[in-house]
Parts: sequence; C-alpha cells; structure tokens
Amino acid sequence: MLNQKCIDLGSAPNDIRALFAYGLQRKAEIGEDKVFDFSIGNPSVPAPEEVNDCIRRLLEEDPVALHSYTPSPGSWETRVAVAEHLKRHFPIDAKPDQVYITSGASSSLAISFKAVASPGEEVIVPSPYFTEYKTWVEAAGASIVEVPCLEPSFQLDVPAIEAAITPKTAAIVVNSPNNPVGAIYTRESLERLAEAMRKKEEEFGTKIYLISDEPYRAITYGKEVPFVPAIYARTILCYSYSKTLSLPGERLGFIYVSDLMDNPEETTFAIQGAGRSLGYICCSALWQRVLQECIELPSDVEAYRVNREILTQGLSELGYEFVEPDGAFYLWVKALEPDAKAFSERAKDFELLFCPSDGFGGKGWFRLSYCIARETIENSLPAFAALKKAYDEQQ
Ligand code: PLP
Repeated sequence: MLNQKCIDLGSAPNDIRALFAYGLQRKAEIGEDKVFDFSIGNPSVPAPEEVNDCIRRLLEEDPVALHSYTPSPGSWETRVAVAEHLKRHFPIDAKPDQVYITSGASSSLAISFKAVASPGEEVIVPSPYFTEYKTWVEAAGASIVEVPCLEPSFQLDVPAIEAAITPKTAAIVVNSPNNPVGAIYTRESLERLAEAMRKKEEEFGTKIYLISDEPYRAITYGKEVPFVPAIYARTILCYSYSKTLSLPGERLGFIYVSDLMDNPEETTFAIQGAGRSLGYICCSALWQRVLQECIELPSDVEAYRVNREILTQGLSELGYEFVEPDGAFYLWVKALEPDAKAFSERAKDFELLFCPSDGFGGKGWFRLSYCIARETIENSLPAFAALKKAYDEQQ
C-alpha cells in the first residue's frame, strides 16, 4: 500500500518552487527583464574557477579509483581535510572520526534529526525557519515545537525556548546566519541558550542536542558568527557548500559531531546509523576529492554585499520596513497588509515575485532573495514604489 504521508508530501505544493515556475512562465510571456524574481535562494555568483580546474585535473586520473565507492562517512582523506579546516579556523581539536561527509545541508539535517530524535520526541525550532526542518523531523517520527523569535530583531527568545523544553526535547535547531531573516545570533544569546539547555538537561536527566545549521556561515557583512560547539558542547554542526562555494546542484556538505561533548563516539555511531537507515551510501567520490583541494577557498560575498546595499537603501527610501540583514542573502520585509499571502499575490500584478512569511512559519512579512542579478534589483525599485503607492492610496 502506498504510504499516505509520502503521497501527501509529494503532492503538497512547494510555494517557493511554484513561484519560481510562475516566474519562468511569466518571463517567457513578457520578457526576462520585465519580471523581478526574488523567490529562490540559488546563488548568482559563479563557483570559483579553481573548482573547475580541479575537476579537469581529477579527470586525468585512473577512472576506476576516481569513481569508486568511498566509505559511507566519506573517504578518510576528506574527513581529515574537514577536521584540519575546523582546527585551523576554530578553537576545537576536531578529529576526522567525528566528521561525516554528506550531500549538502539537507542530508546533514535529515540524518542528524533521525540520529538524535526518537519517535514521540520533540525538536524545538525558532521561527521563522527553513520549513524542510518539519519534514525531516517528522520523518524521524518526532515533532517540531515552534518558538517565535523576538520581533523586530528576530534574535532568539531564550526564555521562551527554555519554557518550551520538556523531558521529550531531543534537540534545538539554530540557523545563523538565518534563512529567511538574515539575522546572526549574538554570542550572548547563544550563551544564554546554552546555559538554559544545560540547566534543563540536569533537571530532566536527558541529553539535549543543539543542531547548528550553517550553510551561510561564510556569507556575512562584518558581524561575528560565533562558533557554536565552543559555546554548547553537545552540538552537531551541519554544513554545506551550496551557498558558500555556489555549488547547490553538486550536493556537498558535512556533519561534525563536536569533540567537546561527553559522548562524541556514540553520537557519531548514531549519525552513521541514521545515514545507513536512510539509504545514504556516500557523497559523490569526485566531489569529495574536489573538497579536499578546495576547502580553503573563500566565499565571494562582494556581489551580495552590493545587492544588499542597493536593495536596503532603495526600500528604505520607499518607506518599507525590514530587518537589516547581517548575513546570508535574504531580506525580511514587513508586508503592507497583515495577510502576507494576499500581499505577495497582489505584488505579482507589479511583476514582483517573493515568498510570503507563512511558508516559513511567520505572519505578516515576506522574504526577498537578493542572490540575483544587480540590474534586476535596480530595475525592480520602481515596481516596489508602485506597489507601495497602490497601498498608500487605499488608506
Ligand atoms: N538549511 C537552510 C537554512 C537553507 O537555507 C538550505 C537551503 O536553502 C538548506 C539547509 C539546504 O541546503 P543544501 O542545498 O545544502 O541541501
């Protein structure tokens, strides 16, 4: 019998993809330059040239060895490369044994949730959030507990998170720099969260994991992104090269089980077992080799910095309210009516395509992905002005 939950998931519309598809159709109808598509987080900066050079070199090697299976957690050399990278940049004596190479943050997270949460348990998610968390947590038989962030800063509401922790809490997820808001959680708020988690672990006699989802770690505009394992020992770090090296289609990332926790080996076994049970064999062998050679390449954030300037300056002159983004490439803007879905629908009349906050577990805001061509942003400003005017005239 077909699994009804899977049918529901497979047939449920994905709002972001649907909007993106609408954008493609609309561009075909009226012209590329007439549609202002801020829907999707696909990096507009090309991957570094060194990545392509590396692939060309690798293709000269023995094809049998190059394309063979690697061990499921990744080849030892790739795991060493990640551990060495972590040691170079952060105050941690990372061991390769605790590194597990994945196909991007999605698999890092799906595997981590399955590893730490048993059926009936709960995972606390500060909202708004990347909504696939819910799918992956529920696939593990657990459920999510949403705790809204503090408005208008969208920093963590630590007392509310603490109040939501129960003996059933298996994990808390943090995503900083954040999608969809662009906020970076302050060191102080993470320290208070860690304190609350340690207190609750002691009170309930449980182990509560902090899952740090960090695909945007390197995309920042000057603020510090605290290294979470150094703040809370029981941290599982989920990383991806989709955004920072502009490789979203290549599916490359890793999980790092912090060496600072009291049970890193047992937790790593759970990660390996979760990967195995999900049918995850190993990440692409070719891309593991690329990672070994390209791991120190910096992210090119300049184009996003310029886009961010043009967009925030333009929208603020027009009177839009938004959260000043400290990282990632998203702008979280207040909708001009309480119903963000209706507002986003209305914006389509002005050829502006963006995602309402409802899809991220929030109300009354919308998300602009500004990882797009600079001209699209510049040319979109008159459309944002017209949209605002239409609402002002309604008052
Ligand atoms: N986590 C967050 C917060 C994201 O924004 C994304 C992708 O947009 C992912 C995870 C998944 O990324 P990946 O492409 O590495 O699977």
